[in-house]
Amino acid sequence: MTQINPIRVLRVALPVPLPQLFDYLPPQPCAPVAAGVRVLVPFGKRKLVGIVVEDSPHTEVESGRLVPVLDILDQAQPLLDAPLMRLLGWCWQYYKHAPGEVLQTALPPALRKPEQSLPPPPLQYALTADGLERLQQGPGRATAQYALLQRLRDGPLLEAQLADEGGRWRATLARLMEQGWVAAEPAVAAQPRPQSGPSLTPEQERAVSAMAADLQHFQCHLLDGVTGSGKTEVYLQLLEQVLKQGRQGLVLVPEIGLTPQLIRRFQQRLGLPPAVLHSGLSQGERLQTWAAVASGRARLLIGTRSALFTPMPELGLMILDEEHDASFKQQDGFRYSARDVAVKRAAELDIPIVLGSATPSLETLNNALTGRYAHHRLRQRATRAAMPRWRVLDMAHHTTTQGLAAGSLQAMAQTLERGEQVMVFLNRRGYAPVLMCQQCGWHGSCDRCDSNLTWHRGARLLCCHHCGHQRRVPPLCPACRADALASAGEGTEQLEQALTQHFPAVPVLRFDRDSTSRKGSFDERLQQVRSGVPCILVGTQMLAKGHHFPSVTLVVVVNVDQALYSADFRARERLGQTLLQVSGRAGRAEKPGTVILQTFHPQDEQLVLLIDQGYEAFAGVLLKERSAAQLPPSSYQVMLRAEAHERQQVEAFLNRAAGCFPAGQGKVYGPLPAVMERVAGRYRMYLLVQADRRADLHRQVDEWLSQIRRLKEGRKVRWAIDMDPQEM
Ligand code: ADP
Ligand code: ZN
Ligand code: ZN
Repeated sequence: MTQINPIRVLRVALPVPLPQLFDYLPPQPCAPVAAGVRVLVPFGKRKLVGIVVEDSPHTEVESGRLVPVLDILDQAQPLLDAPLMRLLGWCWQYYKHAPGEVLQTALPPALRKPEQSLPPPPLQYALTADGLERLQQGPGRATAQYALLQRLRDGPLLEAQLADEGGRWRATLARLMEQGWVAAEPAVAAQPRPQSGPSLTPEQERAVSAMAADLQHFQCHLLDGVTGSGKTEVYLQLLEQVLKQGRQGLVLVPEIGLTPQLIRRFQQRLGLPPAVLHSGLSQGERLQTWAAVASGRARLLIGTRSALFTPMPELGLMILDEEHDASFKQQDGFRYSARDVAVKRAAELDIPIVLGSATPSLETLNNALTGRYAHHRLRQRATRAAMPRWRVLDMAHHTTTQGLAAGSLQAMAQTLERGEQVMVFLNRRGYAPVLMCQQCGWHGSCDRCDSNLTWHRGARLLCCHHCGHQRRVPPLCPACRADALASAGEGTEQLEQALTQHFPAVPVLRFDRDSTSRKGSFDERLQQVRSGVPCILVGTQMLAKGHHFPSVTLVVVVNVDQALYSADFRARERLGQTLLQVSGRAGRAEKPGTVILQTFHPQDEQLVLLIDQGYEAFAGVLLKERSAAQLPPSSYQVMLRAEAHERQQVEAFLNRAAGCFPAGQGKVYGPLPAVMERVAGRYRMYLLVQADRRADLHRQVDEWLSQIRRLKEGRKVRWAIDMDPQEM
């Protein structure tokens, strides 16, 4: 039995991978410490920054083993507010992840250091009464000073905004302040000055008024709108209302969806610079933005997954765009689903949340169809452009050049002749997925993964897309020394080359991770596309999302057949989503669009259904299949993942773990190898647990975990729990 000691302690979450909190004595004397305050504590020989979870009147630790915290780092107020602390507490219980690591996710990296505290608001510069008077007198000879006064006429500006002008603004500003015409003051929240948008289509109108009718309470809304139906316009209208009420808005987008184009659109329509958070920011930028949002100065936050955990004292509406996107699920460490946690946050705050997509995930669609979520459908394009027409090319009956069917090339030629643009989609980077010897059958494979090496011809490298391993392309076959190395299959680099040869007079622009790693180059190419000149865009997934290319009227989908025979039960759902997202790039403006799908399976019933009747019909059939097979969303899953250099150790651990699964509802399957079993020299396997009821499953898994943690086999492998896993 553990002893309860009546000693006051601070229960602290520390950034260590352990499933527990740590008790420390408060410094003496000490007022009550709020949850969410950072403290510096001794931990072994180290000093760590922790976050107080509770100021507790008792502890289970013996009094002799308790040590005091070294310092309380946030005196004025907690960094993480009470609702956020409750949400994070729910997260570590739900995802069964170490509390300290979960709380770390919510802190900007700069605040994980003890010496860094929350920065004060930046200064803004405002006209004084004297300054206003000076403005009325006209410029005279001091033109630079006068120009700066004029800029301030519409309201105070931040240093960063003044600096945009360039020139000697700093000296000019100093003169104006000396004269008493301009004063510095701490920045306050900017007021939105919304521009009116287009008048809404009847479908948009219906969705907006239904959602706006009750902005004061929790409700999850699915905005199920075909590509180009004006979902973003619906978000803008709702945000405008919420901002007008003096509340904050949070918009989460997929990693790939956070484009400058999108940010500009929000800025222009709402008349407010959105705060933007994503992983590409420097620590300093991240800290400033976080502080602006957490203090309530920034009213609108747009960000990727982890922006979800930013404190927002006045949060009134959350929006998750492209809710089906895989990047909302973190795939390592704290494996949370930003979509599911966002819904939880909205429920806790009693505010509405909008999940938007042209191709909702089956989980979300199921929630809408069963009435848990409100379902708003937009089936017409807002610009009155027609939905694209599909043509399926049976590859068994077409001659091909480097992966492109003769029929596709012909349609491309016609499109370009009309002065329009073409997009070619292939979700495979590099020149070819494999390099083979035609003499002996040798092929380039990674020594550390179960994967072939992709041939990057331009860079003269063979690369593993799973572990990053690279080596030079051998001139002769390494096995038989024959001069017979040739590629098999195509990647985007090869398509680019083939198309450049076939259409020498037309620019061919490649968009993938290899071609866009140089900073700025992506935007340059986007500019070229937007200028509207006839050109061919070749690319991966990167092209599929978010972009609005009005002159693209033909989309060619080169090869997606692998998804039709994948072992992953989500493969077909993802295929349908990708196909519709890609096809949605065609004919978004006045001119109608065409999508060509090259496939060896033109008769596949579900493909035919998707193309003839659309996503909802397609998803309906998939949902029936899932229900018949008792797969999510008709059941709930948890995965115990494990990996190690020795396959046998992984298997031994998982077998032992399977053996101690407690009796009850849930069933255990496995050990099973991951779809790619070996990555970077480590073998990866899993156990899958499935149950009909979520609560039962969680109870069982909690009990199971306490057993698993005691297994000595567990010390030889890296293991983790993955709730609601998305990848096999
Ligand atoms: P989605 O997010 O559903 O793909 P968008 O909101 O980006 O769609 O809208 C697609 C295009 O239609 C954009 O160019 C947008 O400006 C335009 N649009 C949206 N709503 C309307 C409307 N009610 N009337 C005219 N154009 C609209
Ligand atoms: Zn050979
Ligand atoms: Zn590899």
